[in-house]
Amino acid sequence: MKSETPALPTKRPASTAAFERALRLMPGGVNSPARAFGAVGGSPVFIDRADGAYLFDLDGNRYLDYIGSWGPQILGHRPPAVVEALERALSRGTSYGAPTEAESELAEQIIDAVASIEKVRLVSSGTEATMSAVRLARGFTGRDLIIKFSGNYHGHVDSLLVAAGSSAATLGAPSSPGVTSGTTKDTLVLEYNDVAELAQAFSVHGSQIAGVIFEPVVGNMGVVKPSEEFCQSLRQLTREHGALLICDEVMTGFRVAFGGAQSLLGLEPDLTTLGKIVGGGLPVGAYGGRADVMDHILPVGQVFQAGTLSGNPLATAAGCATLKQLKETPPYERLEKLSARLEAGLRKAAEAAGVPHTLARVGSMMTLFFNPEPIVSWREASQCDTDRFARYFCHLLDRGIYMPCSQYEALFVSAAHCEDDIDETIAAAGEAMQTL
Ligand SMILES: *Cc1c(COP(=O)(O)O)cnc(C)c1O
Repeated sequence: MKSETPALPTKRPASTAAFERALRLMPGGVNSPARAFGAVGGSPVFIDRADGAYLFDLDGNRYLDYIGSWGPQILGHRPPAVVEALERALSRGTSYGAPTEAESELAEQIIDAVASIEKVRLVSSGTEATMSAVRLARGFTGRDLIIKFSGNYHGHVDSLLVAAGSSAATLGAPSSPGVTSGTTKDTLVLEYNDVAELAQAFSVHGSQIAGVIFEPVVGNMGVVKPSEEFCQSLRQLTREHGALLICDEVMTGFRVAFGGAQSLLGLEPDLTTLGKIVGGGLPVGAYGGRADVMDHILPVGQVFQAGTLSGNPLATAAGCATLKQLKETPPYERLEKLSARLEAGLRKAAEAAGVPHTLARVGSMMTLFFNPEPIVSWREASQCDTDRFARYFCHLLDRGIYMPCSQYEALFVSAAHCEDDIDETIAAAGEAMQTL
């Protein structure tokens, strides 16, 4: 039986009031569109504070958090080591615009963790990392074309806000007003996991392709895994044609494994972009890779890239403390166990209710797609029953379970979750499924 999307504001008068105020002040009342509940209806929950696995809203409601700030909070909220590191850093000042040893510390941790990174530069967001990596790939190769894949998100970089053109393997079209056709004519948009299309693009444009940027495990159309053949083709074709392979691990870095998705897949990209977890909840991004490529950046090379707050002491301290904890007391086995338990429970709940679905998971990121087909690219992902997802989301939210507010996002389990949390979630999902 289909129910109406539950009216959210009833239990959240303070959030509703806060949203009304925000709507007068900021476009859509938010500073990043994913927060606006546009895909699920209702009024967003305004957060007062967070602790461990929980978010608390302005009305004092408590939610089990499966967003973790959209990825960064792998240790849960306010892990003591990060809080202490931040307090220590704060007592020494917040920004200098001159080098600090903490930056070398974080750079060393990144280089130690990610096998393909020999040198790294710190920036302040994932978007900055991908934007800079693409510029560097173009500067290094002296070529213009970049390949990206439908359903992969690399931040709001103009040349990557591109949708597939009318026929496959054609040059892209802007996916946002304000992105010029001049910008997007240098971006080719292909279907993820489509080896034939990739080979075709290289056979036609090979000598003009500067690089290929991709999510090694996609999180931004929901979780989608690459095939082994796709990974091999990416590496082979870029090598053969003198293009750079850019692994966008802003989401997967330190998430699916300490060494990132590339360590699981046996991939050796030329450049890697990082963000989210690398800042431990503060604004940090990074891009790194082959030293000979990285040395094309100013002040050694000629490719311009700079940042007033790059390597910011507070952000760097949070990043260092997070990576240190992930290395010294790795949560990955525990995350795998908890996540497998959640996966099995969600599957069972959907099956019991006869709800057509596919569940995809890599480590602690997973997506329950309301589509029974295997999801290998945006072609299938785009066919999900998003109305059904919205009802599922709203039911869970009203039960105090905060899932990502879009079908096309990954949920994240954190080290602060415990088995009881997972079981509570499965029980609530079972109830939700019965109403769909
Ligand atoms: C989140 C994300 C970005 C953008 O990072 P921001 O910090 O939001 O700019 C880029 N690439 C991937 C794969 C992401 O998940």
